[in-house]
Amino acid sequence: MTTPARLEVRHLIRSFDRLRVVNDVSFRIEAGEVACLLGPSGCGKSTILRIVAGVDMQDSGSIHVDGRLVCDTQFRIPPERRAIGMMFQDFALFPHLPVSENVAFGLPGGHAAHRDRVAELLDRVRMSRHRDSFPHELSGGEQQRIALARALAPRPRVLLMDEPFSGLDERLRDGIRDDTLSLLKDEGTAVLLVTHEPVEAMRMADQILLMRAGRIVQQGAPYNLYNAPVDRQAAAFFSDIN
Ligand code: ADP
Ligand code: MG
Repeated sequence: MTTPARLEVRHLIRSFDRLRVVNDVSFRIEAGEVACLLGPSGCGKSTILRIVAGVDMQDSGSIHVDGRLVCDTQFRIPPERRAIGMMFQDFALFPHLPVSENVAFGLPGGHAAHRDRVAELLDRVRMSRHRDSFPHELSGGEQQRIALARALAPRPRVLLMDEPFSGLDERLRDGIRDDTLSLLKDEGTAVLLVTHEPVEAMRMADQILLMRAGRIVQQGAPYNLYNAPVDRQAAAFFSDIN
């Protein structure tokens, strides 16, 4: 028997007002792997993430973590018991809590009960000296680091990231992408990262899931999509990368 994937999505379908925005999407992600859902705005990427997180519900299809059913049309584990973490585009830090309490937010007992884990993560994102700062005292890049530490603190089996770098200054992005990737690899979590930027997917992904109008039109290693695009449209999408 083969080992179950860390995350497996099977035949996911979701419609809004009779428009199928997610149209029979299937994929699997292994532990330690970063998969990028890549496609233009409106193709259904965030909808897939919301369904996997459990804040939206599919019309059909199923989601499995480590081979265990998390959600289908008859059965549903609530979001907080899925061991799935989520990192949002706007970071969504709690403004009234210092950095250390933000990072500890998902841990039972909070900072007092998890000093070592919080210290380890703050050190890892190079934010130890900002432990007692509040979010408004930090730059965008620093807030991103704290949001990443917070998402990883409870050791989620799967981490979902929706356009996590899009709010950041262009000049900072490459460095933050590299730092983020190295932390994700050290933690060994499976990552599903949404982006509309081919460069970001090429840089971060082990596996690219190329989407168009609700469907995955091609999936594979970045090198394969770049060298053997499925059609002219896919070729054009990757053409301005060098
Ligand atoms: P992406 O993240 O790829 O930009 P989304 O998943 O956010 O795309 O949206 C896909 C499509 O579904 C869009 O046409 C969007 O307008 C539509 N959509 C998303 N959420 C809803 C909703 N709650 N109600 C109606 N339409 C929605
Ligand atoms: Mg989106």
